[in-house]
Amino acid sequence: MAILVTKECIGCGTCVSACPFGAIEMMDDKASIMEACTQCGACVETCPVEAIIREEETKTILIDKAAFKDVWVYMEVVEGKLKNVSLELLGEGRKLADTMGQKLAGVLIGSKVEELAKEVFAAGAEIVYLVEAPELANYSTDGYTATFVNLINIYKPSVILLGATNDGRDLGPRVACRVGTGLTADCTDLGIDKATGLVAWTRPAFGGNIMATILCPDHRPQMGTVRPSVFKRPEPDYRRTGEIIKVASKVKASDIRTKLLDIVRVCTASCNLEEAAVIVSGGRGLGKAENFCYIEELANVLGGSVGASRAAVDAGWKPHMHQVGQTGKTVGPKIYFACGISGAIQHLAGMSSSDIVIAINKDPEAPIFKMADYGIVGDLTEVLPILTEAFKKVKAS
Ligand code: FAD
Ligand code: SF4
Ligand code: SF4
Repeated sequence: MAILVTKECIGCGTCVSACPFGAIEMMDDKASIMEACTQCGACVETCPVEAIIREEETKTILIDKAAFKDVWVYMEVVEGKLKNVSLELLGEGRKLADTMGQKLAGVLIGSKVEELAKEVFAAGAEIVYLVEAPELANYSTDGYTATFVNLINIYKPSVILLGATNDGRDLGPRVACRVGTGLTADCTDLGIDKATGLVAWTRPAFGGNIMATILCPDHRPQMGTVRPSVFKRPEPDYRRTGEIIKVASKVKASDIRTKLLDIVRVCTASCNLEEAAVIVSGGRGLGKAENFCYIEELANVLGGSVGASRAAVDAGWKPHMHQVGQTGKTVGPKIYFACGISGAIQHLAGMSSSDIVIAINKDPEAPIFKMADYGIVGDLTEVLPILTEAFKKVKAS
């Protein structure tokens, strides 16, 4: 961004004295911004004919918003598979595209990933933009940013959705900055603003105390990252097909400044909450860190992941990567066990899209029972071992 003087300048000189850094000089009766400019913006308001503007504003003026169309979803591929969140976003992207009367496209970047296009069509897209190259076999900030920016410059999408994953959070803001637009990070809801027809991006703000809805009126594309498991993955329809648009990669190996040496797994299946079909979560009712062993044993038997309430995380019983809720992860498993968790609204915000909720709590009045499908009133140190044994027997038979 820079400060510019437009041809409307009448040479009055007002801005020269307004600049606290002496960064404006008069040349040929026109104001000229010098190198000392810190972009503080103090001069912008002082010009009587609005001849001083920020560069960003010129982009706003020049941008032809009508030239941008269609909804895109970044299809994140890890070890040859599409991430759940990308498929979830196709379901939501389909709704946005239908409301806007536009097409839905998936963006597939990688090496030997064309086969995955079938899944992208089955989940609702009618177009796949495919960029394949050996240099793109693994995610890299440089390679994927350059590739995505190139696609945007050629095809001009109106909306781009990315998963709020490690890669999505890395890629989204870089791409947004390169193409001169904004990005709403970590959304928990999407919609269309009735008054403007723009995408309404909703996300927690001020530490989760309020929900903010953000619009992107002046720039294109409208971009956002969305938390995994906020939306349901659409039922695949493998009869659906679509158009694959192959775009040649412009990325050379020398453009990528990082080199992948090794993949070290710090997160085992037990903390892969976003992809888990079963989650067993523990709260303050566990009483102490050691009692998480009851949670872990049940999760092990069911092949599930281990979750925790914020109270359990704040107590230091589990790392934050296990936290479920408004300021933790949003999950949507088939079965969610809430053990010794009261059911505070901030916890429910992260797990209420679970298919089946089973609550175990010694207090029959605990709010969690109001939303649970099944409830067991009892001490979890007694109930959990009985459940674990019962599931072991079922599995063995
Ligand atoms: P408690 O509310 O203390 O509940 C413990 C439960 O265990 C009780 O219902 C009790 O009856 C039961 N119990 C006790 N002993 C036993 C036993 N032996 N057997 C069976 N049951 C037993 N919370 C989150 O979880 N995730 C978030 O992301 C999150 N974000 C937040 C963001 C903000 C801005 C704020 C203000 C709060 C947030 N919270 C979040 C905190 C939330 O409000 C609650 O304080 C928290 O969820 C409570 O955790 P809990 O249910 O484990 O503990
Ligand atoms: Fe001076 Fe600030 Fe204007 Fe730059 S933006 S010319 S530093 S007043
Ligand atoms: Fe030109 Fe505006 Fe500066 Fe006057 S205040 S010299 S019109 S830029």
